[in-house]
Amino acid sequence: MTNRPKLPRLSPSRINTYLSCPMKYYFQYEVGAPTIPHVAMLRGTFVHSVLERLMARKPQDRTNEAALNDFTEAQQEMSRDEQFVMLALSDAECEEFWESSRECLRAYYRIEHPRDANVVAIEKWVTAQLGEFEVAGFIDRLERDSQGLVVVDYKAAKPKKAQWSTDYLRQLTLYALMCEAQMNETPHHVRIYYLGGGKDEHTRDERVVAQSVTSATLDSVREDARRVFSGLNTARASDDFATNVTKLCDWCDYKQWCPAHGGDIAKAKAEATVMVQLRRREVGLPESA
Ligand code: SF4
Repeated sequence: MTNRPKLPRLSPSRINTYLSCPMKYYFQYEVGAPTIPHVAMLRGTFVHSVLERLMARKPQDRTNEAALNDFTEAQQEMSRDEQFVMLALSDAECEEFWESSRECLRAYYRIEHPRDANVVAIEKWVTAQLGEFEVAGFIDRLERDSQGLVVVDYKAAKPKKAQWSTDYLRQLTLYALMCEAQMNETPHHVRIYYLGGGKDEHTRDERVVAQSVTSATLDSVREDARRVFSGLNTARASDDFATNVTKLCDWCDYKQWCPAHGGDIAKAKAEATVMVQLRRREVGLPESA
């Protein structure tokens, strides 16, 4: 058997990062400047982990008691996680973290009962070759309804209308493209469950954002991926990654080193590493390699 040469690989999240700002991609993936974790990011990881445990059970076993056990198990695991320890939360902030996560899960139950989800796969690895490179990643949840496959993702964020969810929808449509390539079956929809935004503040319709998968949406994400691959090659060759200044810069981990904000790119890796090591020391973690 001949081994196929390994192709350069892009994930849907890398594609989204590059499209949002090439310079951010540079800091994150080319330089590898480490970052201090955020509460919102870890809340998302935690909620995913509880739902992943629950969905791994047979539908009839997805009881309320099972959900409580899965929450407790995921909570014990998260409490030991270095990223969580690095948040350096006070007892009150910690309780707020668990309570806001419980609120996301209550929002999930207002959308559907877990025993009604016809899950085909969770955390499924999929890839698709697009000429000289491939896209690859894990699908959170693939389910089947009366019309066929649906790609589903949970977001522990406040609901956003479909027109403001283009980056997430692009990401999920890329997964649909990979399903088509790998499973010979094209999902008919992609669907986001927005689970954040507080207690009872949003209707089910606001929390569920879905989009049909059509040849036009597949072509569009294929084209996005090719554009990113080609843009990346050009940016690497010229060592010139463009900046994209928007109001999102205020939430960017790399703003202090960004040339668009007067920063010095060359200092990013070393200074970010020192910041992370200081935080690790503050919370009693050993220095990372
Ligand atoms: S601060 Fe803005 S322009 Fe600079 S890297 Fe971050 S997102 Fe891009």
